[in-house]
Amino acid sequence: MTFNHQNTSAIGIGTWHLGEGNQTKTESEMQAIKYGLDRGINLIDTAEMYGDGLSETLIGKVIKNYQRDNFQLVSKFYPFHATPKLIEQSLKNSLKRLQTDYLDLYLLHWRGNTPLTETVSGLEKMVQAGLIKNWGVSNFDLDDLKELSATKDGSHCRINEDLYNIASRGIEYSILPWQKEHGMSFVGYSPFGSDGGQFLKIKPIIQQMAKDKGITPYQLLLAWVIRNHDLLSIPKTASVEHMQSNIKAVDVQFTTDELQLLDQSYPKPTSETTLETI
Ligand code: NDP
Repeated sequence: MTFNHQNTSAIGIGTWHLGEGNQTKTESEMQAIKYGLDRGINLIDTAEMYGDGLSETLIGKVIKNYQRDNFQLVSKFYPFHATPKLIEQSLKNSLKRLQTDYLDLYLLHWRGNTPLTETVSGLEKMVQAGLIKNWGVSNFDLDDLKELSATKDGSHCRINEDLYNIASRGIEYSILPWQKEHGMSFVGYSPFGSDGGQFLKIKPIIQQMAKDKGITPYQLLLAWVIRNHDLLSIPKTASVEHMQSNIKAVDVQFTTDELQLLDQSYPKPTSETTLETI
């Protein structure tokens, strides 16, 4: 089945840095993922890079107790593993750690030196082999997306995953509209800016508006990212309490006035900018 973010829950589960701590921390992280899956979140994002496989290993321990077709699994390979031979090797290693026999999406984590045609051909082979359902890219700028779509089978790319939060709105200018026009789903990473505290110190408006709405600043930030229902956001949390809070954020609505107020502090992009990445 072709991947479309409209068939997933409004938020997915980010997993960078999970599985890297002691047993108590790992247990809490596993509980957080379980909490999310049990309440209908149906997409998990990981990568071979995260903790050098530790994130995938932790996810594998959780998902072996779940029916596989009830959720979608996304992983990513390094740009220096982007040749057909190395893609297959990386993928098989990821599948082993994840204790599953297929991925729903397999992404080139960021662009490297391997020609896109080679990478696409390797990914298409993995689709034919039934090891992945769909493939995509991450940290691609508009020029990269256009170049990709012009390669043989490049139009089979189902998603691009880029940084997106209230303080990093660059993708709104041309990447998001281009992806919509080409039927390619957009996944926004780091809705809290990775370091969850930075905006709150910078702009008091976030804290004030959250207080007025009876929600937390984190809920406001997450709800803002998904306000137009046109993309998937993948917050990461290591705690059940925060997972619960993030799930509740999906129901938060904004008035036009509130959105305009936020735009004043965090303006929309008015020209093409270099893609921000983390
Ligand atoms: P996020 O923007 O999701 O922020 C994570 C931070 O926010 C953590 O410190 C977390 O702490 C905190 N947090 C989460 N929920 C709450 C809450 N409700 N209340 C208070 N604090 C909260 O950062 P990430 O960079 O991890 O981005 C999310 C995911 O996106 C990654 O995990 C990864 O899957 C993906 N990603 C992809 C990239 C790519 O190149 N494709 C690059 C970066 C990220 P705590 O754990 O204690 O809850």
